[in-house]
Amino acid sequence: MLDLPGLLGLEFKTINAMVRLYCQRFHTQQGECTECRDFLIYANEKLDRCPYGQTKPTCNQCPIHCYKAEQRAQAKTIMRYAGPRMLIYHPILAIKHLQAEKRVVPSEVPEQKSNRHLRKLKP
Ligand SMILES: [Zn+2]
Repeated sequence: MLDLPGLLGLEFKTINAMVRLYCQRFHTQQGECTECRDFLIYANEKLDRCPYGQTKPTCNQCPIHCYKAEQRAQAKTIMRYAGPRMLIYHPILAIKHLQAEKRVVPSEVPEQKSNRHLRKLKP
């Protein structure tokens, strides 16, 4: 897994927890199935490349739709199941996410602020 700092790391933890809840209910009791693991790799990559970087709005507030149709549909199905259950199983992540939804969406997409870009600048 990539190293996603700060806000992005928190978002990844959240999506990871949601996929796990969903996969354990519908697919497998052990870790995640291949399909869900692939989805997580995809989600991680999208977070890493999110042009907002550390000022990222939550995905449902975001004006950019960066997921492909297939993964977007997958995300919707997972969120619909796991969303309401997050408060019970992962209350801290759930509350942090609810707080994040109140953050103001930046009016412009920043340039060269993605985690991936910043990482490349490091020596
Ligand atoms: Zn699964």
